[in-house]
Amino acid sequence: MTRSLRVAVVGSGPSGIYAADSLTSQTDIPIAVDVIDKLPVPYGLVRYGVAPDHLSIRSVRNTLEKVLDRPEVRFLGNVEVGRDVSIDQMRQFYDAIVLTYGAASDRRLGIPGEDLFGSIAATDLVNWYCGHPTADRAAIEAALANVQSVAVIGVGNVAVDVTRVLLKEPSELDYTDMPQHVLDALAASDITQVYLIGRRGPAQATFTTKELRELGELEAVDVVVDPVDVVLDPVSAAAAEGDRAISRNVEVVREWSQRESGAKAKKLHVRFYGKPIDIVGDDRVESIIIERTALDENGNAVGTGGTETIPVQLVIRSVGYRGLPLEGVPFDTDRAVVPNDEGRVVANGSPVPGLYVAGWIKRGPSGIIGTNKKDASATVASLLADADVLPEAPDASVDAVTTWLAEHGVEAITYAGWQAIDAAEMALGATRGRDRTTIHDTDQLIALATS
Ligand SMILES: Cc1cc2nc3c(=O)[nH]c(=O)nc-3n(C[C@H](O)[C@H](O)[C@H](O)COP(=O)(O)OP(=O)(O)OC[C@H]3O[C@@H](n4cnc5c(N)ncnc54)[C@H](O)[C@@H]3O)c2cc1C
Repeated sequence: MTRSLRVAVVGSGPSGIYAADSLTSQTDIPIAVDVIDKLPVPYGLVRYGVAPDHLSIRSVRNTLEKVLDRPEVRFLGNVEVGRDVSIDQMRQFYDAIVLTYGAASDRRLGIPGEDLFGSIAATDLVNWYCGHPTADRAAIEAALANVQSVAVIGVGNVAVDVTRVLLKEPSELDYTDMPQHVLDALAASDITQVYLIGRRGPAQATFTTKELRELGELEAVDVVVDPVDVVLDPVSAAAAEGDRAISRNVEVVREWSQRESGAKAKKLHVRFYGKPIDIVGDDRVESIIIERTALDENGNAVGTGGTETIPVQLVIRSVGYRGLPLEGVPFDTDRAVVPNDEGRVVANGSPVPGLYVAGWIKRGPSGIIGTNKKDASATVASLLADADVLPEAPDASVDAVTTWLAEHGVEAITYAGWQAIDAAEMALGATRGRDRTTIHDTDQLIALATS
Protein backbone atom coordinates (compact mmCIF):
# COMPACT_ATOMS: atom_id res chain seq x y z
CA MET A 1 0.00 0.00 0.00
CA THR A 2 1.15 3.53 -0.74
CA ARG A 3 2.19 5.59 2.31
CA SER A 4 -0.38 8.00 3.67
CA LEU A 5 -0.23 11.51 2.24
CA ARG A 6 -0.75 15.03 3.47
CA VAL A 7 -2.03 17.30 0.71
CA ALA A 8 -2.60 21.07 0.67
CA VAL A 9 -5.32 22.55 -1.51
CA VAL A 10 -4.76 26.27 -2.09
CA GLY A 11 -8.19 27.93 -2.40
CA SER A 12 -11.55 26.92 -0.93
CA GLY A 13 -13.73 27.74 -3.94
CA PRO A 14 -15.63 24.98 -5.72
CA SER A 15 -12.55 23.53 -7.42
CA GLY A 16 -10.60 23.38 -4.13
CA ILE A 17 -13.42 21.72 -2.25
CA TYR A 18 -14.18 19.33 -5.10
CA ALA A 19 -10.47 18.42 -5.12
CA ALA A 20 -10.61 17.76 -1.35
CA ASP A 21 -13.73 15.69 -1.98
CA SER A 22 -12.03 13.52 -4.61
CA LEU A 23 -8.89 13.13 -2.48
CA THR A 24 -10.81 11.93 0.55
CA SER A 25 -13.58 9.91 -1.15
CA GLN A 26 -11.17 7.30 -2.46
CA THR A 27 -10.12 4.48 -0.16
CA ASP A 28 -6.85 3.26 -1.68
CA ILE A 29 -4.55 5.82 -0.08
CA PRO A 30 -5.09 7.46 3.34
CA ILE A 31 -4.99 11.19 2.63
CA ALA A 32 -5.33 14.16 4.98
CA VAL A 33 -6.16 17.43 3.28
CA ASP A 34 -5.73 21.04 4.38
CA VAL A 35 -7.90 23.44 2.38
CA ILE A 36 -6.16 26.80 2.68
CA ASP A 37 -7.76 30.14 1.80
CA LYS A 38 -6.52 33.69 2.06
CA LEU A 39 -9.95 34.76 3.26
CA PRO A 40 -11.28 33.95 6.73
CA VAL A 41 -14.27 32.22 5.08
CA PRO A 42 -14.58 29.41 2.53
CA TYR A 43 -16.38 28.92 -0.81
CA GLY A 44 -14.65 31.43 -3.14
CA LEU A 45 -16.97 32.72 -5.84
CA VAL A 46 -19.93 30.76 -4.52
CA ARG A 47 -19.92 33.34 -1.74
CA TYR A 48 -18.31 36.26 -3.56
CA GLY A 49 -19.47 35.87 -7.17
CA VAL A 50 -22.74 33.98 -7.62
CA ALA A 51 -25.47 36.62 -7.50
CA PRO A 52 -27.00 36.99 -4.02
CA ASP A 53 -30.53 36.93 -5.48
CA HIS A 54 -29.87 33.43 -6.87
CA LEU A 55 -30.37 31.61 -3.60
CA SER A 56 -30.68 28.14 -5.09
CA ILE A 57 -27.29 28.39 -6.82
CA ARG A 58 -25.68 29.87 -3.72
CA SER A 59 -27.05 26.96 -1.69
CA VAL A 60 -24.41 24.75 -3.33
CA ARG A 61 -22.40 25.85 -0.31
CA ASN A 62 -24.39 23.29 1.70
CA THR A 63 -22.92 20.54 -0.47
CA LEU A 64 -19.41 22.02 -0.25
CA GLU A 65 -19.76 22.31 3.51
CA LYS A 66 -20.20 18.55 3.88
CA VAL A 67 -16.68 18.10 2.48
CA LEU A 68 -15.13 20.61 4.90
CA ASP A 69 -16.91 18.77 7.71
CA ARG A 70 -15.06 15.50 7.03
CA PRO A 71 -12.50 14.43 9.65
CA GLU A 72 -9.77 14.05 6.98
CA VAL A 73 -10.30 17.62 5.78
CA ARG A 74 -9.13 20.71 7.65
CA PHE A 75 -9.96 24.32 6.70
CA LEU A 76 -7.22 26.89 7.27
CA GLY A 77 -8.60 30.32 6.42
CA ASN A 78 -6.91 33.70 6.64
CA VAL A 79 -3.69 32.22 5.22
CA GLU A 80 -2.50 33.75 1.96
CA VAL A 81 -0.16 31.46 0.08
CA GLY A 82 2.63 33.54 -1.46
CA ARG A 83 2.36 36.16 1.31
CA ASP A 84 1.96 34.32 4.63
CA VAL A 85 3.63 31.12 3.52
CA SER A 86 5.52 30.31 0.32
CA ILE A 87 5.05 27.28 -1.87
CA ASP A 88 8.63 26.24 -1.01
CA GLN A 89 7.87 26.42 2.70
CA MET A 90 4.67 24.42 2.20
CA ARG A 91 6.69 21.61 0.67
CA GLN A 92 8.10 21.04 4.18
CA PHE A 93 4.63 20.06 5.37
CA TYR A 94 2.85 18.58 2.37
CA ASP A 95 3.56 15.69 0.01
CA ALA A 96 1.54 17.42 -2.68
CA ILE A 97 -0.05 20.81 -3.31
CA VAL A 98 -3.12 21.39 -5.48
CA LEU A 99 -3.48 24.98 -6.64
CA THR A 100 -7.11 26.08 -6.98
CA TYR A 101 -6.73 29.80 -6.34
CA GLY A 102 -9.07 30.99 -9.08
CA ALA A 103 -8.90 34.00 -11.37
CA ALA A 104 -9.71 37.04 -9.30
CA SER A 105 -8.51 39.87 -11.52
CA ASP A 106 -10.39 41.47 -14.42
CA ARG A 107 -9.72 42.07 -18.10
CA ARG A 108 -9.61 45.63 -19.40
CA LEU A 109 -11.12 47.20 -22.50
CA GLY A 110 -7.95 49.06 -23.46
CA ILE A 111 -9.79 52.23 -24.54
CA PRO A 112 -9.34 55.90 -23.57
CA GLY A 113 -11.15 57.05 -20.44
CA GLU A 114 -11.14 53.63 -18.82
CA ASP A 115 -9.55 55.03 -15.65
CA LEU A 116 -11.96 57.95 -15.27
CA PHE A 117 -13.96 58.18 -12.07
CA GLY A 118 -17.17 56.27 -12.80
CA SER A 119 -15.54 53.54 -14.86
CA ILE A 120 -15.31 50.35 -12.82
CA ALA A 121 -14.76 46.63 -13.24
CA ALA A 122 -17.70 44.28 -12.72
CA THR A 123 -15.35 42.34 -10.41
CA ASP A 124 -15.25 45.33 -8.05
CA LEU A 125 -19.01 45.85 -8.11
CA VAL A 126 -19.64 42.13 -7.54
CA ASN A 127 -17.14 42.08 -4.67
CA TRP A 128 -18.95 45.03 -3.12
CA TYR A 129 -22.49 43.66 -3.41
CA CYS A 130 -21.39 40.22 -2.16
CA GLY A 131 -19.63 41.80 0.87
CA HIS A 132 -16.08 40.71 -0.05
CA PRO A 133 -13.73 41.84 2.76
CA THR A 134 -11.39 43.64 0.33
CA ALA A 135 -14.13 45.47 -1.62
CA ASP A 136 -13.52 49.22 -1.79
CA ARG A 137 -16.86 50.21 -0.33
CA ALA A 138 -16.25 53.96 -0.36
CA ALA A 139 -15.10 53.96 -4.01
CA ILE A 140 -18.04 51.88 -5.28
CA GLU A 141 -20.64 53.81 -3.32
CA ALA A 142 -19.15 57.10 -4.55
CA ALA A 143 -19.24 55.83 -8.14
CA LEU A 144 -22.91 54.79 -7.78
CA ALA A 145 -24.05 58.10 -6.29
CA ASN A 146 -25.91 60.51 -8.60
CA VAL A 147 -25.99 58.03 -11.48
CA GLN A 148 -29.06 57.77 -13.68
CA SER A 149 -27.61 55.95 -16.70
CA VAL A 150 -25.17 53.05 -16.78
CA ALA A 151 -23.37 51.19 -19.56
CA VAL A 152 -22.58 47.55 -18.80
CA ILE A 153 -20.03 46.29 -21.32
CA GLY A 154 -20.17 42.57 -22.03
CA VAL A 155 -22.79 39.96 -22.76
CA GLY A 156 -21.98 37.09 -20.43
CA ASN A 157 -23.73 35.96 -17.25
CA VAL A 158 -21.73 38.31 -15.02
CA ALA A 159 -22.93 41.31 -17.09
CA VAL A 160 -26.48 39.97 -16.75
CA ASP A 161 -26.08 39.58 -12.95
CA VAL A 162 -24.76 43.11 -12.56
CA THR A 163 -27.52 44.55 -14.75
CA ARG A 164 -30.24 42.71 -12.84
CA VAL A 165 -28.91 43.73 -9.42
CA LEU A 166 -28.71 47.39 -10.46
CA LEU A 167 -32.25 47.41 -11.86
CA LYS A 168 -34.11 45.39 -9.26
CA GLU A 169 -36.49 47.07 -6.86
CA PRO A 170 -35.44 47.04 -3.17
CA SER A 171 -38.27 44.57 -2.47
CA GLU A 172 -36.78 42.19 -5.05
CA LEU A 173 -33.44 42.13 -3.18
CA ASP A 174 -34.58 42.29 0.40
CA TYR A 175 -34.41 38.52 0.97
CA THR A 176 -30.77 38.27 -0.11
CA ASP A 177 -27.69 37.98 2.11
CA MET A 178 -26.20 41.24 0.81
CA PRO A 179 -24.77 43.40 3.60
CA GLN A 180 -27.24 46.04 4.79
CA HIS A 181 -25.08 48.92 3.53
CA VAL A 182 -25.27 47.40 0.03
CA LEU A 183 -29.05 47.05 0.16
CA ASP A 184 -29.28 50.64 1.43
CA ALA A 185 -27.05 52.01 -1.34
CA LEU A 186 -28.97 50.10 -4.03
CA ALA A 187 -32.30 51.26 -2.61
CA ALA A 188 -31.05 54.86 -2.71
CA SER A 189 -29.80 54.56 -6.29
CA ASP A 190 -31.23 56.84 -8.99
CA ILE A 191 -30.44 54.44 -11.83
CA THR A 192 -33.26 54.28 -14.37
CA GLN A 193 -31.42 53.46 -17.62
CA VAL A 194 -29.01 50.59 -18.20
CA TYR A 195 -27.38 49.91 -21.57
CA LEU A 196 -26.15 46.34 -21.88
CA ILE A 197 -23.69 46.43 -24.76
CA GLY A 198 -22.16 43.60 -26.76
CA ARG A 199 -19.64 43.78 -29.60
CA ARG A 200 -21.34 41.04 -31.58
CA GLY A 201 -24.89 39.80 -32.04
CA PRO A 202 -27.34 37.81 -29.91
CA ALA A 203 -26.10 34.57 -31.48
CA GLN A 204 -22.56 35.20 -30.16
CA ALA A 205 -23.49 36.26 -26.61
CA THR A 206 -22.47 33.83 -23.88
CA PHE A 207 -25.31 34.28 -21.39
CA THR A 208 -27.44 31.31 -20.44
CA THR A 209 -31.08 31.54 -21.46
CA LYS A 210 -32.49 31.22 -17.94
CA GLU A 211 -30.47 34.21 -16.70
CA LEU A 212 -31.23 36.18 -19.86
CA ARG A 213 -34.97 35.56 -19.60
CA GLU A 214 -34.97 36.86 -16.03
CA LEU A 215 -34.00 40.32 -17.30
CA GLY A 216 -37.27 40.51 -19.19
CA GLU A 217 -39.28 39.70 -16.07
CA LEU A 218 -38.09 42.44 -13.72
CA GLU A 219 -40.86 44.25 -11.88
CA ALA A 220 -40.07 47.86 -12.80
CA VAL A 221 -38.12 47.44 -16.03
CA ASP A 222 -39.02 47.64 -19.73
CA VAL A 223 -36.54 45.93 -22.03
CA VAL A 224 -35.78 47.72 -25.29
CA VAL A 225 -34.14 45.98 -28.26
CA ASP A 226 -33.78 47.33 -31.79
CA PRO A 227 -35.40 44.74 -34.13
CA VAL A 228 -32.51 45.32 -36.55
CA ASP A 229 -30.17 43.62 -34.06
CA VAL A 230 -32.16 40.40 -34.27
CA VAL A 231 -31.85 40.06 -38.03
CA LEU A 232 -29.19 37.38 -38.22
CA ASP A 233 -26.42 37.32 -40.83
CA PRO A 234 -25.73 33.91 -42.43
CA VAL A 235 -22.93 33.01 -39.95
CA SER A 236 -25.19 33.76 -36.95
CA ALA A 237 -28.20 32.04 -38.51
CA ALA A 238 -26.13 28.89 -39.03
CA ALA A 239 -24.85 29.09 -35.44
CA ALA A 240 -28.40 29.42 -34.10
CA GLU A 241 -29.63 26.57 -36.25
CA GLY A 242 -26.99 24.19 -34.96
CA ASP A 243 -27.20 25.03 -31.27
CA ARG A 244 -30.28 24.96 -29.03
CA ALA A 245 -28.75 27.29 -26.42
CA ILE A 246 -27.98 29.93 -29.05
CA SER A 247 -31.37 29.68 -30.74
CA ARG A 248 -33.13 30.00 -27.37
CA ASN A 249 -31.12 33.13 -26.54
CA VAL A 250 -31.94 34.63 -29.93
CA GLU A 251 -35.63 33.85 -29.38
CA VAL A 252 -35.64 35.63 -26.01
CA VAL A 253 -34.04 38.74 -27.55
CA ARG A 254 -36.39 38.58 -30.55
CA GLU A 255 -39.41 38.50 -28.25
CA TRP A 256 -38.06 41.58 -26.45
CA SER A 257 -37.59 43.39 -29.75
CA GLN A 258 -41.28 42.86 -30.52
CA ARG A 259 -42.56 44.26 -27.21
CA GLU A 260 -44.68 47.43 -27.25
CA SER A 261 -42.87 50.36 -25.63
CA GLY A 262 -43.77 50.21 -21.95
CA ALA A 263 -44.33 52.79 -19.24
CA LYS A 264 -42.29 51.26 -16.44
CA ALA A 265 -39.98 53.48 -14.43
CA LYS A 266 -36.73 51.88 -15.64
CA LYS A 267 -35.43 50.88 -19.06
CA LEU A 268 -32.94 48.23 -20.01
CA HIS A 269 -31.54 48.89 -23.50
CA VAL A 270 -29.91 45.75 -24.85
CA ARG A 271 -27.54 46.81 -27.63
CA PHE A 272 -25.74 44.42 -29.91
CA TYR A 273 -23.07 45.12 -32.56
CA GLY A 274 -21.59 47.96 -30.48
CA LYS A 275 -17.87 48.28 -29.70
CA PRO A 276 -16.91 50.80 -26.99
CA ILE A 277 -14.17 53.06 -28.36
CA ASP A 278 -14.00 55.95 -25.89
CA ILE A 279 -15.21 56.74 -22.39
CA VAL A 280 -15.65 60.50 -22.25
CA GLY A 281 -15.67 62.98 -19.37
CA ASP A 282 -13.59 65.59 -17.55
CA ASP A 283 -13.60 64.63 -13.89
CA ARG A 284 -15.92 61.68 -14.24
CA VAL A 285 -17.64 59.59 -16.89
CA GLU A 286 -20.16 61.62 -18.88
CA SER A 287 -20.73 59.41 -21.90
CA ILE A 288 -19.47 56.43 -23.83
CA ILE A 289 -18.86 56.30 -27.58
CA ILE A 290 -19.87 53.09 -29.29
CA GLU A 291 -18.88 52.14 -32.81
CA ARG A 292 -21.36 50.07 -34.78
CA THR A 293 -19.86 46.72 -35.83
CA ALA A 294 -20.70 44.02 -38.34
CA LEU A 295 -19.53 40.44 -38.38
CA ASP A 296 -16.94 39.30 -40.90
CA GLU A 297 -17.08 35.82 -42.47
CA ASN A 298 -15.30 34.34 -39.40
CA GLY A 299 -17.84 35.83 -37.02
CA ASN A 300 -15.46 38.54 -35.73
CA ALA A 301 -16.77 42.05 -35.00
CA VAL A 302 -15.43 44.67 -37.39
CA GLY A 303 -16.00 48.40 -36.91
CA THR A 304 -18.22 50.03 -39.55
CA GLY A 305 -17.18 53.61 -38.73
CA GLY A 306 -20.64 54.71 -37.56
CA THR A 307 -20.65 55.89 -33.95
CA GLU A 308 -23.16 56.71 -31.26
CA THR A 309 -22.61 58.67 -28.05
CA ILE A 310 -24.60 57.40 -25.10
CA PRO A 311 -24.84 59.67 -22.05
CA VAL A 312 -23.96 57.59 -18.98
CA GLN A 313 -22.38 58.42 -15.63
CA LEU A 314 -21.17 54.91 -14.87
CA VAL A 315 -19.42 52.34 -17.07
CA ILE A 316 -19.08 48.78 -15.81
CA ARG A 317 -16.77 46.58 -17.81
CA SER A 318 -17.64 42.91 -17.66
CA VAL A 319 -15.35 41.40 -20.24
CA GLY A 320 -13.89 38.53 -18.28
CA TYR A 321 -11.90 37.53 -15.23
CA ARG A 322 -8.18 36.91 -15.34
CA GLY A 323 -5.82 34.69 -13.35
CA LEU A 324 -2.75 36.07 -11.58
CA PRO A 325 0.67 34.48 -11.04
CA LEU A 326 1.63 33.05 -7.67
CA GLU A 327 5.24 33.29 -6.55
CA GLY A 328 7.17 30.07 -7.03
CA VAL A 329 4.64 28.67 -9.52
CA PRO A 330 5.03 28.63 -13.34
CA PHE A 331 2.59 30.94 -15.14
CA ASP A 332 1.44 31.24 -18.73
CA THR A 333 1.08 35.02 -19.09
CA ASP A 334 -0.72 34.83 -22.43
CA ARG A 335 -3.50 32.58 -21.20
CA ALA A 336 -3.26 33.76 -17.57
CA VAL A 337 -3.33 30.17 -16.28
CA VAL A 338 -0.90 27.81 -14.55
CA PRO A 339 0.52 25.61 -17.35
CA ASN A 340 -0.26 21.96 -16.81
CA ASP A 341 -0.60 18.56 -18.32
CA GLU A 342 -3.75 16.82 -17.06
CA GLY A 343 -3.51 18.89 -13.87
CA ARG A 344 0.24 18.32 -13.31
CA VAL A 345 1.91 21.73 -13.19
CA VAL A 346 4.51 21.94 -15.93
CA ALA A 347 7.73 23.99 -16.05
CA ASN A 348 9.97 23.96 -19.13
CA GLY A 349 8.03 21.03 -20.55
CA SER A 350 8.34 18.76 -17.46
CA PRO A 351 5.95 18.17 -14.57
CA VAL A 352 6.93 19.86 -11.29
CA PRO A 353 6.90 17.01 -8.72
CA GLY A 354 4.07 17.29 -6.21
CA LEU A 355 2.44 20.38 -7.73
CA TYR A 356 -1.04 20.23 -9.30
CA VAL A 357 -3.70 22.68 -10.46
CA ALA A 358 -7.49 22.68 -10.93
CA GLY A 359 -10.40 25.05 -11.58
CA TRP A 360 -10.28 28.52 -13.11
CA ILE A 361 -6.53 28.92 -12.61
CA LYS A 362 -6.05 25.69 -14.58
CA ARG A 363 -8.36 26.24 -17.51
CA GLY A 364 -9.24 29.95 -17.41
CA PRO A 365 -12.40 31.67 -16.15
CA SER A 366 -15.10 29.68 -17.85
CA GLY A 367 -17.69 27.09 -17.02
CA ILE A 368 -20.23 26.74 -14.28
CA ILE A 369 -19.67 25.55 -10.73
CA GLY A 370 -20.27 21.92 -11.75
CA THR A 371 -17.55 22.11 -14.42
CA ASN A 372 -15.01 22.37 -11.61
CA LYS A 373 -16.06 19.03 -10.13
CA LYS A 374 -15.02 17.03 -13.18
CA ASP A 375 -11.96 19.21 -13.62
CA ALA A 376 -10.83 18.75 -10.00
CA SER A 377 -11.35 14.97 -10.09
CA ALA A 378 -9.27 14.76 -13.27
CA THR A 379 -6.43 16.58 -11.49
CA VAL A 380 -6.77 14.38 -8.42
CA ALA A 381 -6.64 11.28 -10.66
CA SER A 382 -3.22 12.49 -11.88
CA LEU A 383 -2.07 13.08 -8.30
CA LEU A 384 -3.22 9.61 -7.20
CA ALA A 385 -1.49 8.03 -10.18
CA ASP A 386 1.75 9.74 -9.02
CA ALA A 387 1.29 8.77 -5.36
CA ASP A 388 4.27 6.39 -5.24
CA VAL A 389 6.71 8.94 -6.62
CA LEU A 390 5.59 12.07 -4.79
CA PRO A 391 8.39 13.86 -2.94
CA GLU A 392 8.03 13.06 0.76
CA ALA A 393 7.36 16.07 3.02
CA PRO A 394 10.10 16.35 5.71
CA ASP A 395 7.51 17.24 8.39
CA ALA A 396 4.02 16.05 7.53
CA SER A 397 2.79 15.88 11.12
CA VAL A 398 -0.68 17.31 11.67
CA ASP A 399 0.49 20.29 13.76
CA ALA A 400 3.59 21.19 11.77
CA VAL A 401 1.95 23.74 9.51
CA THR A 402 -0.28 25.32 12.15
CA THR A 403 2.66 25.65 14.56
CA TRP A 404 4.77 27.23 11.81
CA LEU A 405 1.97 29.67 10.94
CA ALA A 406 1.43 30.64 14.59
CA GLU A 407 5.18 31.18 15.04
CA HIS A 408 5.10 33.49 12.02
CA GLY A 409 2.20 35.57 13.32
CA VAL A 410 -0.47 34.09 11.05
CA GLU A 411 -3.80 33.44 12.73
CA ALA A 412 -5.29 30.55 10.79
CA ILE A 413 -9.05 30.23 10.96
CA THR A 414 -10.33 26.71 11.37
CA TYR A 415 -13.62 25.13 10.37
CA ALA A 416 -14.91 25.78 13.91
CA GLY A 417 -14.01 29.45 13.39
CA TRP A 418 -15.94 29.50 10.12
CA GLN A 419 -18.92 27.89 11.88
CA ALA A 420 -18.90 30.74 14.41
CA ILE A 421 -18.98 33.25 11.52
CA ASP A 422 -21.72 31.25 9.83
CA ALA A 423 -23.86 31.28 12.98
CA ALA A 424 -23.30 35.02 13.46
CA GLU A 425 -24.33 35.75 9.86
CA MET A 426 -27.50 33.71 10.22
CA ALA A 427 -28.32 35.46 13.50
CA LEU A 428 -27.72 38.85 11.89
CA GLY A 429 -29.97 37.93 8.96
CA ALA A 430 -32.71 36.74 11.31
CA THR A 431 -32.92 40.22 12.86
CA ARG A 432 -34.48 41.33 9.54
CA GLY A 433 -36.28 38.13 8.64
CA ARG A 434 -33.56 36.90 6.27
CA ASP A 435 -31.74 33.57 6.20
CA ARG A 436 -28.39 35.31 6.43
CA THR A 437 -26.64 38.66 6.15
CA THR A 438 -23.04 38.59 4.99
CA ILE A 439 -20.52 40.15 7.35
CA HIS A 440 -18.03 42.05 5.21
CA ASP A 441 -15.49 43.41 7.67
CA THR A 442 -12.27 41.37 7.95
CA ASP A 443 -11.57 42.32 11.57
CA GLN A 444 -15.10 41.40 12.59
CA LEU A 445 -14.87 38.08 10.75
CA ILE A 446 -11.58 37.24 12.43
CA ALA A 447 -12.85 38.31 15.84
CA LEU A 448 -15.93 36.12 15.46
CA ALA A 449 -13.83 33.15 14.38
CA THR A 450 -11.23 33.44 17.10
CA SER A 451 -13.19 34.59 20.14
C1 LIG B 1 -19.68 37.11 -10.79
C2 LIG B 1 -19.74 35.62 -11.01
C3 LIG B 1 -20.96 34.97 -10.97
C4 LIG B 1 -21.02 33.59 -11.20
N1 LIG B 1 -22.24 32.98 -11.15
C5 LIG B 1 -22.32 31.65 -11.36
C6 LIG B 1 -23.59 31.01 -11.30
O1 LIG B 1 -24.63 31.65 -11.10
N2 LIG B 1 -23.62 29.66 -11.50
C7 LIG B 1 -22.48 28.92 -11.75
O2 LIG B 1 -22.57 27.70 -11.92
N3 LIG B 1 -21.26 29.52 -11.80
C8 LIG B 1 -21.16 30.85 -11.61
N4 LIG B 1 -19.94 31.46 -11.67
C9 LIG B 1 -18.74 30.63 -11.96
C10 LIG B 1 -18.20 29.92 -10.68
O3 LIG B 1 -18.24 30.80 -9.61
C11 LIG B 1 -16.77 29.42 -10.97
O4 LIG B 1 -16.87 28.39 -11.96
C12 LIG B 1 -16.07 28.84 -9.74
O5 LIG B 1 -16.22 29.62 -8.60
C13 LIG B 1 -14.56 28.67 -10.02
O6 LIG B 1 -14.05 27.96 -8.94
P1 LIG B 1 -12.52 28.06 -8.47
O7 LIG B 1 -12.50 27.24 -7.22
O8 LIG B 1 -11.63 27.69 -9.57
O9 LIG B 1 -12.25 29.60 -8.13
P2 LIG B 1 -12.83 30.54 -6.99
O10 LIG B 1 -14.27 30.25 -6.72
O11 LIG B 1 -12.46 31.92 -7.37
O12 LIG B 1 -12.01 30.15 -5.67
C14 LIG B 1 -10.66 30.51 -5.51
C15 LIG B 1 -10.35 30.62 -4.03
O13 LIG B 1 -8.93 30.78 -3.88
C16 LIG B 1 -8.68 31.72 -2.85
N5 LIG B 1 -7.34 32.28 -3.07
C17 LIG B 1 -6.93 33.09 -4.08
N6 LIG B 1 -5.62 33.35 -3.97
C18 LIG B 1 -5.18 32.69 -2.86
C19 LIG B 1 -3.91 32.58 -2.22
N7 LIG B 1 -2.82 33.21 -2.70
N8 LIG B 1 -3.81 31.85 -1.10
C20 LIG B 1 -4.91 31.21 -0.59
N9 LIG B 1 -6.13 31.27 -1.16
C21 LIG B 1 -6.26 32.00 -2.29
C22 LIG B 1 -9.80 32.74 -3.01
O14 LIG B 1 -9.99 33.50 -1.83
C23 LIG B 1 -10.99 31.83 -3.34
O15 LIG B 1 -11.66 31.43 -2.17
C24 LIG B 1 -19.84 32.85 -11.46
C25 LIG B 1 -18.61 33.51 -11.51
C26 LIG B 1 -18.56 34.88 -11.29
C27 LIG B 1 -17.24 35.57 -11.36
